Amino acid sequence: MKKTIIVLIREDLRIDDHPALFEASQEGNVIPLFILDEAASFGEAKKWWLHRNIKTFKDTLQSINGDLWLDKGKTEEVLLRWIEKTNAQAVYWNRAYHPEVYDRDRKLAHSLSSQGIDVKTFEGTLLLPPWNIKKDDDTPYKVYSAFYKSLRKQDIPKPRPPVRQMNVPQLKDTGMSLKDLGFMPSVPWYHVMESIWDPGEDAALKRMNAFLEKGLHVYSEGRDFPSEGHISTLSPYLALGTISVRRIFHTLVEMDSKPIEPFIKQLIWREFSYTVLLHFPESPARPLNKKFGDFKWQTNEDDWEKWTKGKTGYPIVDAGMRELWATGFMHNRVRMIVASFLTKHLLIPWQRGAKWFLNTLIDADLANNSMGWQWVAGSGFDSAPYFRIFNPTLQSEKFDKDGAYIRMWVPELANLPSPYIHKPTDAPAAVLEECNISMGKDYPYPVVDHKAARKRALERYDEIK
Ligand SMILES: Cc1cc2nc3c(=O)[nH]c(=O)nc-3n(C[C@H](O)[C@H](O)[C@H](O)COP(=O)(O)OP(=O)(O)OC[C@H]3O[C@@H](n4cnc5c(N)ncnc54)[C@H](O)[C@@H]3O)c2cc1C
Repeated sequence: MKKTIIVLIREDLRIDDHPALFEASQEGNVIPLFILDEAASFGEAKKWWLHRNIKTFKDTLQSINGDLWLDKGKTEEVLLRWIEKTNAQAVYWNRAYHPEVYDRDRKLAHSLSSQGIDVKTFEGTLLLPPWNIKKDDDTPYKVYSAFYKSLRKQDIPKPRPPVRQMNVPQLKDTGMSLKDLGFMPSVPWYHVMESIWDPGEDAALKRMNAFLEKGLHVYSEGRDFPSEGHISTLSPYLALGTISVRRIFHTLVEMDSKPIEPFIKQLIWREFSYTVLLHFPESPARPLNKKFGDFKWQTNEDDWEKWTKGKTGYPIVDAGMRELWATGFMHNRVRMIVASFLTKHLLIPWQRGAKWFLNTLIDADLANNSMGWQWVAGSGFDSAPYFRIFNPTLQSEKFDKDGAYIRMWVPELANLPSPYIHKPTDAPAAVLEECNISMGKDYPYPVVDHKAARKRALERYDEIK
C-alpha cells in the first residue's frame, strides 16, 4: 500500500522545484496542507497577496489531480489532528527560516519522529542551506563580499522538475475555506495592487522571462533608476515562493551570453540576509552593532505621520512612500532613501520603519527587511557607515534626473520643471504660480532642513562613537 504523506506548505506556493512536494509525489499519496498558525504575523499587504496566491496554487494543484487543504491553529496540534484522521505516515516540508518558525519546526520534527512519523525536510527557499557558507573557523560571515565569493565557489543543486501528476487520498474533511483564513481586508483598498500584481507561478515566470529579455543587459547600470524599470520585480514572488531561486539562478547560468553576475550578486544578498537571520535571530529587533544600543533615537509622532503618508516635503521620499502605499512595493534605491531619511533626518528608530515596511510591502521578508534597515541605519554587518547621510535632494537629482518617478507618485508637482521638482522650495514664486502650486497648501514645506538634520544626526552619532 502506498504511504500517505502530508506536505506542509508555507511560503513556497509552487509546483516547480518544490523539493518536498516532488519527493512526496514520487513516493505516495500526498496531502498538501497549509496551516495558518495563530502565532503567524503577516502584514496586511502580504495577507492580501497570500490570499490571491493560495487560490492560484490550489487551482494549479487541482489541475494535476491534487488539491490544497487549509487549516488554522497551532501547527503541531493541527498537524496531529490531520495525521490521525488521514492515517498519514510521513510529513515533509521545505525549511522556513523565520527564527520562530525554524525553532518550532525543529521541535516539531523531533516530536513527530519520536511518535514514529517519518519526517523529511528540504531546502526550498535558498540556493544553499544557510549553514553551508561558513568561514574557515566555522563562524558565519559578517562581510558580504567574502560570503559572496565563498558561495560562488559552491555548486548550486539543479532545480527539480515541476510536479505534473499527484495522487491524493480520498478525504471526507475538506478543511477550511480560503475565506475562513481571513486574509482579505473588509475594506477593499487593494485596487491598484490588483492591477499590477498577478498571482501564481505563471505570472512569476512571465516576469522573469520579460526581465531576462529586456532588463538583464542593462541591469548593472539601470537598477538604480526608479522610473526606468530595469529591475526584475521578482521579490513579491520570491517572498511567497511562487518562483524558486534555484530556477532563477540556473536559468541565468545557462544563458551565459548576457552579463549575469550583477543580478546574481543581488540574489546572493538575499542568501546573506537569511544567513545573518539564522545565526543572529535577534537582528529584526536589535542592532547587530552593539554600540547602537545606546543611540538616542527620538520619535516625533507628527514627523512619523508625515513620513508614512508621503508628506515630508522631500519629493523623492514622498514619492517612495506613496508608491509603497499604493502598490505594496518600492524600488530598492528609494527604499534606501526613505529609510535613511527616517533614521537620520527624523531620528526615528529603524525598527519602527522596518515594521511599517513589513506591514505594507507585499514582498515583506523578515531577513531582507531586517538586513536592509540595519544596513541603512548603519547598525548592521557590513553596513553603510552611519555618518554617510544621504542628501535626498542630491539622490533625487542623480537617480530621477527628469523627475519622472516623482511626477508619477506626487502628481501635485507634476508640472514643475525638472530643476525644481527635486526641491520645490527653490522654485521662484512665478514658476510655482504658473504650475498652480501653493507651498504649504498643495505641497508641504520640508519637515526638517537637510543641513540642520544632518548636523543633528552626526552629533547623535558622536555620542556613541
Ligand atoms: C530598507 C530596506 C528594506 C527592504 N525590505 C525588503 C523586504 O522586506 N523584502 C525583500 O524582498 N527585499 C527587501 N529589501 C531589498 C530590496 O530592496 C528588494 O529585494 C528589491 O527592491 C526587490 O526588487 P526586485 O525584485 O526588482 O529586485 P532586483 O534588483 O531585480 O533583484 C532580484 C532579487 O534579488 C534580491 N535582492 C535584491 N536586492 C536585495 C537586497 N538589497 N537585499 C536582499 N536581497 C536583495 C531580491 O530577492 C530581489 O527580488 C529591502 C531593502 C531596504 C534598503
